[in-house]
Amino acid sequence: MTEKENLDIEQLAEKHKKGELKASDRYKIPPQEMPAQDGVKRRSNVSEVATGYTETQARLEAMRCLQCKNAPCVEGCPVRIKIKEFTAAIAQGDYKQALAIIKENSLLPAVCGRVCPQEVQCQEKCTVGLKFKDVDKAVSIGRLERFAADLSGGNDSVPAVAAQTGMKVAIIGSGPGGIVAAADARRAGHDVTIFEAFHKPGGVMVYGIPEFRLPKTIVQKEIDVLTKMGVKIVCNFIVGRTMTIEQLMKEDGFDAVYIGVGAGLPSFMGIEGESLVGVYSANEYLTRANLMKAYKFGKGADTPIAVSKKVAVVGGGNVAMDSARMAVRLGAEKVYLIYRRSENEMPARIEEVHHAKEEGIEFHTLQNPKLIIGDENGKVVAVECLKYELGEPDDSGRRRPIAIEGSEFQIPVDTVIIAIGNAANPLIRQTTAGLEFNKWGNIVVDERCKTSLEGVYAGGDIVLGAATVILAMGQGRIAAAAINEYLSNKKKLNSGRMSKEF
Ligand SMILES: Cc1cc2nc3c(=O)[nH]c(=O)nc-3n(C[C@H](O)[C@H](O)[C@H](O)COP(=O)(O)OP(=O)(O)OC[C@H]3O[C@@H](n4cnc5c(N)ncnc54)[C@H](O)[C@@H]3O)c2cc1C
Ligand code: SF4
Repeated sequence: MTEKENLDIEQLAEKHKKGELKASDRYKIPPQEMPAQDGVKRRSNVSEVATGYTETQARLEAMRCLQCKNAPCVEGCPVRIKIKEFTAAIAQGDYKQALAIIKENSLLPAVCGRVCPQEVQCQEKCTVGLKFKDVDKAVSIGRLERFAADLSGGNDSVPAVAAQTGMKVAIIGSGPGGIVAAADARRAGHDVTIFEAFHKPGGVMVYGIPEFRLPKTIVQKEIDVLTKMGVKIVCNFIVGRTMTIEQLMKEDGFDAVYIGVGAGLPSFMGIEGESLVGVYSANEYLTRANLMKAYKFGKGADTPIAVSKKVAVVGGGNVAMDSARMAVRLGAEKVYLIYRRSENEMPARIEEVHHAKEEGIEFHTLQNPKLIIGDENGKVVAVECLKYELGEPDDSGRRRPIAIEGSEFQIPVDTVIIAIGNAANPLIRQTTAGLEFNKWGNIVVDERCKTSLEGVYAGGDIVLGAATVILAMGQGRIAAAAINEYLSNKKKLNSGRMSKEF
């Protein structure tokens, strides 16, 4: 096949339809690059960086899928999306069908297509990537998922809701797990209320992941669907403060509860200088920027943020990349990303690392802060770091970073953002007697997400520790199925009791 033929979509589609597109033809189609905003221009705006496939690109990319009999990619997908079926539909130009197939297993495709770490999930197992010995050359499943979701204008179809059961379900937290649990419980006909601590629903998808990676209109559309289904959303309601779980069940008559409060407690390093002015947790920094719109610099921002010139971000995950990239957009002239291992061990998505570098973020790997230095007014002026080398692998399987004695050096900065991880907020633990937690403060559940308390289920980061959107969604779905079964049994039991009484 020549280069010209490669781009003749209809001819390829015809071959594809007739089942005549051979593996050798498919291998010749070049991987389709994701169009993106220019690296320099986007430093001064918060618009989405990756702009999405064109129709031609999507169909070509979809035709790269070999339609493997055993579809190993599906094994890598936590919610088992029927990948070869939906890519085949895109290849044929039937995008509606593609989206319908994806939605059988995933409720938030426009979100997952953007933020799932596909390179360590479905795409890692893709036969095409394995053939080329390069995960970047695997079929771009995530980009195709996003394409199908975006082309349909997002999720505006409202799922059918069964007749009212008279049962009440409380969902605590409106992150991806809570959204999915609420939708599935409401579909079964229960009266569902989401209680959210913040003034806006959406969880980390709204307050943590920046606009330039996940536009907030996409999350809002999903929330609107919930409202149209009849799910009630109560914001500014902190369960454990405004009311406890016990009160919700005993006083407000909720028959079942799903706890999806995430892992919102930022971890700090425990080094000298962490309480200086100019030191932020990534959570605070990103919440100010995303939820409080600090990037509007006072125009429509309730809580503006001090403009930084030189910023050190500590960490190597998605949260660190988001903080560093947000600092650039908030006007910092220099942003250093300090990580104690090498780039190979960075847990951030490859695409985010790539975009961060394009935006001029300076990577300082194999380094870590020893202390933060302040001036006489208590303001940050520098971070003192140590150099590191890698030793043997630790429990996480990654090589252990070892500090090199006497290697101290300073980097002058006015802001330090700590992005080394999040843990469970202890509020639910402190206010819910009988709920079992593990030693890290995460709720203990069985395989159906049932906790130690009758009628109480939990999922997402509060169970898994800081994890991913798709895993939280998966647990929301498992928990809702268990809640629906529990409530159906409870209803039968109640009506049995009533008929005995009469
Ligand atoms: C900056 C950042 C970037 C990330 N990037 C990615 C990524 O690229 N890809 C990916 O897959 N994952 C990413 N993650 C992780 C992902 O966002 C989480 O794993 C996921 O959102 C967890 O979902 P959840 O349903 O458990 O709850 P969360 O999204 O954490 O939401 C929990 C909600 O509960 C509310 N809440 C907490 N306590 C209470 C209470 N007591 N009462 C009422 N409400 C309460 C919170 O305000 C919050 O809105 C990122 C995380 C962060 C912080
Ligand atoms: S493994 Fe790759 S090529 Fe095979 S069905 Fe899945 S996406 Fe297609």
